[in-house]
Amino acid sequence: MIVNMSRNATQEQIDHVVERIKECGYQAHVIRGAERTVIGAVGSNGRRSELEALQAAPGVEELVPISQPFKLVSRQLRQERTIVNVGGVPIGGEHWIVMAGPCSVESREQLLATARAVREAGGSILRGGAYKPRTSPYDFQGLGVEALELLREAREETGLPIVTEVMSTEDVDLVSDYADMLQVGARNMQNFPLLRRLARAEKPILLKRSPSATVKEWLLAAEYLLSGGNANVVLCERGIKTFESELRNTFDLAAIALAKELSHLPVVADPSHGTGRRIVIPAMSRAAIAAGADGIMVEVHPCPERALSDGPQSLDLKAFAQLMEELDRPERTRARATAKV
Ligand code: PEP
Ligand code: MN
Repeated sequence: MIVNMSRNATQEQIDHVVERIKECGYQAHVIRGAERTVIGAVGSNGRRSELEALQAAPGVEELVPISQPFKLVSRQLRQERTIVNVGGVPIGGEHWIVMAGPCSVESREQLLATARAVREAGGSILRGGAYKPRTSPYDFQGLGVEALELLREAREETGLPIVTEVMSTEDVDLVSDYADMLQVGARNMQNFPLLRRLARAEKPILLKRSPSATVKEWLLAAEYLLSGGNANVVLCERGIKTFESELRNTFDLAAIALAKELSHLPVVADPSHGTGRRIVIPAMSRAAIAAGADGIMVEVHPCPERALSDGPQSLDLKAFAQLMEELDRPERTRARATAKV
């Protein structure tokens, strides 16, 4: 339920409504907008008729039910767009941003060369996996703490904030010590104990969409984070499984536009995992931004043919610089043909 407070509601009236919501058995989430405060009452075990009586409380303008199953994530509750601050970089504002870096951190040379190139070309956030979710247990699993140390060094040198994946609840404290943003990988989107733990983390979360999740399931996964207390969530579309076999995944552009319609959270897009093929990444990056993405995440490697993971979808440093240049050139948009009469 959304409790819309009137424009001139006092703090005392707001506090009173919060108190009553809790007494009725719901969680209260206060959202202060530019014009008015709204309070979300969420939960499944509350006494609804008592809650509805709040209509008569001083300072309350109206009560509106939230029809979507995801409540705190929904734009019904919050119309203003959320801006998530990642180590000083705002995601979700007027501008789109670029997160880039290797799939896996492999060595000091590899990471630092990539980090310098990412900064040089205008990227805002450095990505790099320390703990890798791999389909086969025989594939490279990541350098762990050694990679986290290298990411820290790369941030110190370049000033770029770091995003890296955390795979298990046990690693949350450790990874939080190093990273500016914690990535929930696609395979863990519905790892509910991990989501509950990350809801209590101090760091913003990058929530990747599972390749088999509907948009609703993706937003409900985000709801775990918000309802548990972490409002700093960025959604990431990274492709879904379809019958298409020429591409690793099918990059779901419509889901980007839809998630932005349904939710106030920022949405970024990962065309590297979304397609698995370097050749289509520039076009899909432009398309994602045109669809409303607040940023893109791309995999970059100094020598993709030697990459220990995801080489075929990684751009080399030159191709990344080229991509950045292209994205900055609006004249890339082709002109519409006009009818000749
Ligand atoms: C990654 O970002 O390298 C990764 C493993 O992504 P995903 O979880 O989307 O497969
Ligand atoms: Mn990868």
